[in-house]
Amino acid sequence: MTPAGTAASAVADAADLFRTLTGSEPDGVWSAPGRANLIGEHTDYNDGFVLPFAIQQRTAAAARLRTDGRIRVASTFAAEPVEVALSDLEALFPSDGVPALAEWAAYPLGVAWALRAVVPAWASATLPGVDIAIASEVPVGAGLSSSAAIEGATGSALNALWTLGLDPVTLAQAGRRAENEAVGAPTGIMDQMASMLGVADAAVFLDCRTLATRSVPLGFAEAGLEVLVIDTRVTHAHSTGGYRERRASCERGAAALGVVALRDVTPADLPRAAEVLDDVDFRRVRHVVTEDQRVLDAVAVLDGSAVLDGSAGGLRDRAQALGALLVASHASMRDDFEISIPELDTAVDVALAHGAIGARMTGGGFGGAAIALVDSELVTPVSDAVRAAFAACGFADPHLFTVAPSDGPRRDV
Ligand code: ADP
Ligand code: MG
Repeated sequence: MTPAGTAASAVADAADLFRTLTGSEPDGVWSAPGRANLIGEHTDYNDGFVLPFAIQQRTAAAARLRTDGRIRVASTFAAEPVEVALSDLEALFPSDGVPALAEWAAYPLGVAWALRAVVPAWASATLPGVDIAIASEVPVGAGLSSSAAIEGATGSALNALWTLGLDPVTLAQAGRRAENEAVGAPTGIMDQMASMLGVADAAVFLDCRTLATRSVPLGFAEAGLEVLVIDTRVTHAHSTGGYRERRASCERGAAALGVVALRDVTPADLPRAAEVLDDVDFRRVRHVVTEDQRVLDAVAVLDGSAVLDGSAGGLRDRAQALGALLVASHASMRDDFEISIPELDTAVDVALAHGAIGARMTGGGFGGAAIALVDSELVTPVSDAVRAAFAACGFADPHLFTVAPSDGPRRDV
């Protein structure tokens, strides 16, 4: 099983597109990764904990300054480039819900717009224009955050070319702002932080309330473990009622329990929650509260501070303990949060039945992908079993590939 792509292809494709667009060489090429969420689902907007990692599939932005104060963005995904004066971005965003330009272009142009808040030069309009050509190997809409990757690549290119000197967290915040306000997608900051702070063979432990982060070594490479992504190819949409309803349940739960966010509720508070909430809201709250605890437990396991059968355990014991947390996370999303679908349940069940150490749906739910923690030599048999099961159920052919915990943004050329 080969990864969906290597960074070299996105970098080369972005540079090629740049040459076609402008007839000249870019000043540089910058790239940023997509991400997979190991554990911690629907906890981000509840001020809770998440444990994602950046993946090796990246989005690249080939870019060059121009002298006329205009910004032009092109993508291998789109037929036409989009060009506006930097001074017109203010009027374009925040959008009023009627897109004034192709939706995809709101991601890179939204990042340029969002950077205005942190760039003093913006006010004096001294920033030069820029041409940006984008290519990606992060699958779109598979729960791997192609959106954070395009934001991170664009932000990194602009940060360098405009010599802004911004740190990764500030760039992550600009990406989130672009996504929330320019694109209009109500997402948390996990994706951007995971992409911007990625470290090879480590996960990003993020406290979504304080934005404190810590790199947590995973040791998957040493243990011979791979993360297999099973993309069901059932598309999800944040705008669908299901996502809004879940958020509303969480807000009602926090209000009824008298806390700012569900982050402030612990598993010990759940009996009281059961008394004051109706059954549906209670189960939504129970998912978030137990999921936060599972993230903390996963970090303790990976740190080696959790006691496993009387010891901190070797790599293998830790992987097993992590796997059990992944399985519990999936059950909670399936039964309490009710955001799984038959394709995701089948992917998880079949992967586990064929030797995966753990598996869970990942991402917002109602479609998208599952991940499975698998010994390297079992990647092919598990993949074959999942494909066969999907065919037997009459589901669409799943897209299967591995992701490896990888470094964050970088300049490639
Ligand atoms: P994901 O789970 O992949 O992040 P989103 O819906 O959040 O899904 O973001 C996907 C959207 O981001 C695409 O529909 C497109 O508008 C934009 N996008 C992502 N990558 C690219 C790219 N390389 N070129 C142009 N647009 C992109
Ligand atoms: Mg996204």
